[in-house]
Amino acid sequence: MFNTNFFDGDKLIEYMKSLPITDEPENIYLNLKDPVAIMTHDDYFDREMHEYEKENGFTSTFFLLTSQIKEKGFDSSADLQLHYDMSRKEWIESQIKEFKTNVKKMPMFNRNHRVFWRENHLDLANLAMHGIKADCSLLNSKPFKLCVQNRILPIWEVPYTIVDEPYVDITKNVYCTYNVSSRMEDAFAKGQTPLVALFHPYLKDKTYWKKFFEYAEKYNYKIMNMSEFYEKYLKEI
Ligand SMILES: [Zn+2]
Repeated sequence: MFNTNFFDGDKLIEYMKSLPITDEPENIYLNLKDPVAIMTHDDYFDREMHEYEKENGFTSTFFLLTSQIKEKGFDSSADLQLHYDMSRKEWIESQIKEFKTNVKKMPMFNRNHRVFWRENHLDLANLAMHGIKADCSLLNSKPFKLCVQNRILPIWEVPYTIVDEPYVDITKNVYCTYNVSSRMEDAFAKGQTPLVALFHPYLKDKTYWKKFFEYAEKYNYKIMNMSEFYEKYLKEI
């Protein structure tokens, strides 16, 4: 029977019971002062984007659909992570297995494909239960760890704020994503941090993905990928 929870409820309850109890029943938020710009791409690896980024001295994070990984022998400098597809009948454990088979490592981070999402406390717990350290599926908030019944879920949510500008535009079309700011540059000019961008490879000829890096340089943002950001700012909290 189709399970609309997308996970095993009994396992999730056992997992929740295993988490330590905290005295402070509130979320933990990251109070970042350093200006940080993180670029991410969804669905599949794009060599042109990766080479451009590498030539300019940085790398981004690619969230890969495990059913579509064709590339063999990825460049080891690429930050490759999981793009969990909830529309498939295979659950996250199968998709992680496919990822490990093809990429030869365990994914540390995830973004859900098409931003399919059920509830923060369920989906984040399910991801954490399967070893994911940070998720990047939500929009428009500061990075946080969710508190659920005096338990801090051991996974960071790092929301994104910039998407396929100018192609994704709420005054022209409706998508499951949106841009928080009308103009990408304003987010940099106002010093918002971290700025997490999502630019799809299949839209690369229609979007200003290179401008994200130009603005980062202009406004003195440090460009990093999800792995670098996690190591520097999230791992110890
Ligand atoms: Zn996707």
